[in-house]
Amino acid sequence: MAMTADKSSETAREFGGAPGAGVIITLSHVLLLYLWIAWRFHDGAIFYPVGISDLGPFFARNWDLIVAHAMPSLSTFALYLGFLVAQGLMAAFLPGLEIRGLPIPSRGGNQLVYRCNAYTAWWLTLAVVALLHFSGIFPLQTIYEQFGALMIAAIVSANAIALAVHIGAKITGNAERMSGNFLYDFFMGAWLNPRIGALDLKMWAEIRVSWLTLFLLTASGAAHQFAEHGSVSVPMIFMVVAHFLYANACMKGEECIPTTWDIFHEKWGWMLIFWNLAGVPFVYCFNSMYIASRPPFELSLPHTIFCFVLLFGAYYVFDTANGQRNHFRMQINGSYVKRKTIPQLPWDTLKNPRYLDTAVGSKLLIDGWWRYVRKPHYTADILMALSWGLICGFENVLPYFYVTFFVIMILHRARRDIARCKKKYGKDWDRYTKEVPHLLIPKVF
Ligand code: NDP
Repeated sequence: MAMTADKSSETAREFGGAPGAGVIITLSHVLLLYLWIAWRFHDGAIFYPVGISDLGPFFARNWDLIVAHAMPSLSTFALYLGFLVAQGLMAAFLPGLEIRGLPIPSRGGNQLVYRCNAYTAWWLTLAVVALLHFSGIFPLQTIYEQFGALMIAAIVSANAIALAVHIGAKITGNAERMSGNFLYDFFMGAWLNPRIGALDLKMWAEIRVSWLTLFLLTASGAAHQFAEHGSVSVPMIFMVVAHFLYANACMKGEECIPTTWDIFHEKWGWMLIFWNLAGVPFVYCFNSMYIASRPPFELSLPHTIFCFVLLFGAYYVFDTANGQRNHFRMQINGSYVKRKTIPQLPWDTLKNPRYLDTAVGSKLLIDGWWRYVRKPHYTADILMALSWGLICGFENVLPYFYVTFFVIMILHRARRDIARCKKKYGKDWDRYTKEVPHLLIPKVF
């Protein structure tokens, strides 16, 4: 595959080009460190310099905190990298469903085969973690205690992997759709589907590493609370359930991922690598850590019930909306297999659904949840994110950071997707938006 400099491509302008990439890379690092300091040293509250003259001392103070409390030792790196390698080995060698991806233009239309065994790997990991915890060999709260150092280990590893993949893509001639600007290409990626033998690195990072790390961080918060106070509070149980459901949904839906935009088009660059390895787990777990570090608190019964109803209701729509669309597409291309993964929810597969035919051949679903809005799974995801904030109460605003961040990120993602679909479907997309005029909220937005 030839390396091309394509400065005129549409992608060369995404995210504000090279300056935008530089800003996102910097702010992503700052965000992780800021949230960690807020959680660890400010009781989960916002903190800032008290004036212009405090700017220098502010940075120095916080840098000192990072150096004193979050420097990973060799054993922290061994723990983190050991986890990555274990997940990689399971991905490569456990038996699983073989799914064909979409034809890849840069590989002459060839399709890659994906071995989908994340669900098996997920339950095997949980069993091993439980064994290590209850036997006392590796108490789960160790992860909570080493949070800062593990976060730095993840940040360093993500940057090192992103650089290695970028250089590897150039050396092996696998770089494609390049703009010619190093920073921008490093950010967006060079290599579409890097693999080590049977291990597909992008699938490994996107499905297993992100969500498993997130769940283990949250579970370690619960283990810490139990070790410290002899009980686990209802808000903590809520976060364990919420992150379990999310991680489990990603693992059980793995076979639907190879045909998504992230896998067949987005290159495995800094943006995906950093956010899969470090950003998603260490930012999204803020609420769990916030609850775990406080003396166990309970909210009023109506408040607690509301949070659970919101979480389970939103999860139901999230799971079934993703199921309806993915199963519909899989039934059309003949790859649909009814799996025995749990939970299999009612209405996650539609019988003879209504759809729109398009000139490019793909069919757009306009039935089930998809008859009400064009992104029902995003709406449900936002509501789940809101429930994660509400379960933390109203004492601080930082537990609401995640839902705010998520809304901005998912709207940006929706905008990119709409632009792509308009280009791909042309007039058929206009027909579709007439049929389903609203994006997230029926009859409103
Ligand atoms: P989508 O699931 O929204 O997929 C978009 C693609 O689906 C479109 O490009 C189009 O592709 C196809 N499509 C759009 N409308 C229809 C339709 N009516 N019928 C059939 N196909 C359609 O993409 P995402 O990857 O963004 O989201 C997947 C899930 O992941 C969501 O639940 C989302 O909430 C979640 N997510 C979570 C994140 C997190 O950080 N927690 C981050 C990102 C996503 P085609 O060209 O094939 O027609």
